[in-house]
Amino acid sequence: MQFFAPTHVYLENDCVRSHKEELLSFGGRAFIVTGKHSSRSNGSLADVLAVLEEDGVPYLIYDEIEENPSVETVAAATEKGREFQADFVIGIGGGSPLDAAKAIALLLANPQEDASCLYEPKKLSALPVVAVPTTCGTGSEVTPNAVLTRHAFKTKKSISYNIYPKLALVDGKYLASASGRLLIHTAVDALAHCVESRLHVKANVYNHMFSEYGLALWHKIIPALTRIADHPETAPKELLTDADYETLMLASTVAGMAIAQTTTSLPHALSYEITYNHGIPHGKACGIFLAAYMDEYAKNQPEDVDRVLSLLGFRSTEEFGAFLRHLLGTVAVPAADIALYADNIMANASKLATYPFPIDRDAIAGILAQSLETE
Ligand code: NAP
Ligand code: FE
Repeated sequence: MQFFAPTHVYLENDCVRSHKEELLSFGGRAFIVTGKHSSRSNGSLADVLAVLEEDGVPYLIYDEIEENPSVETVAAATEKGREFQADFVIGIGGGSPLDAAKAIALLLANPQEDASCLYEPKKLSALPVVAVPTTCGTGSEVTPNAVLTRHAFKTKKSISYNIYPKLALVDGKYLASASGRLLIHTAVDALAHCVESRLHVKANVYNHMFSEYGLALWHKIIPALTRIADHPETAPKELLTDADYETLMLASTVAGMAIAQTTTSLPHALSYEITYNHGIPHGKACGIFLAAYMDEYAKNQPEDVDRVLSLLGFRSTEEFGAFLRHLLGTVAVPAADIALYADNIMANASKLATYPFPIDRDAIAGILAQSLETE
């Protein structure tokens, strides 16, 4: 049994400003990696820039990270970071910029390498990464993973290196600009992290501390998420309190700490297919598979599934599945895709190995068929 969680995390209001000295301790030339718009409108970029500018720290902003960032984008950003001679990387945004920041930090630390090394089994380390999350789902600020889109393989995959941010500055106020859909989707990603980590081949007592506590926290945010789903025309900030935003961020980091010990499992593997092929946002793509996945798992070890359900406050996987459909809606794919995706998952030996029991193609196809509508 082992436990490793090297990221220094602060979760508090105005933590970028309050922990300025630590933020500036990682280098003298900052490469800021962010998305196209949101970090400008939610105040996170301004907070970081204020701290850098006060101390005259040179920085360069790369703000072209797309959702589900690609290897090609990481390579393009790396070129800019190399020209600038960055010595640390600040990722600001949702999981997409944070994951991209990790991969870019790896390439910047290894000028002899190009992006082809990202999926090779080399021993490489990265420049220091500081993470400022602005969504409440991926937990990337505390995980070693960086999931990139690989167009050459028509899917997404985590790179081969473990890159934990050195510092995570987590401030719930950045969520105030998020839409209801974004809050729901990313909160469901955090839920999927807790469920998949709890029902994982590597689950153990240490990791239960995070997955189970995360599930109990998630239970507390169900009323807030239900309010958002029931009032789609109302801005979420009219429906949520500052304390709700902070709890959403806390659930996300705790869920990240859970998967940092185990990785994710089959719902995430399935999600990559429907995100890549049908553009379904990451959290929704994971959440849509959770109830059917738990039904399959319960055939082997029902007491684990009962534990997950009881921490979340549901009596059955049917009730849980109906709740998730209320939050997320449904996903429809052409009927022929089910067989294709089942084949792809059966070829993904590393993800299959995260499931604690033998599982065959029929069972995977059954999870897909139970979770997806067909067109
Ligand atoms: P995201 O792809 O980072 O962002 C989704 C959208 O939300 C973007 O349009 C972004 O706008 C916007 N946005 C971000 N913060 C906002 C805010 N506070 N207010 C309003 N809009 C905001 O979403 P995500 O779900 O956080 O990340 C998904 C990615 O993380 C996927 O690639 C997934 O595979 C990965 N992931 C990683 C891990 C891990 O352990 N590393 C775990 C799970 C998932 P801009 O583009 O303008 O910024
Ligand atoms: Fe995820």
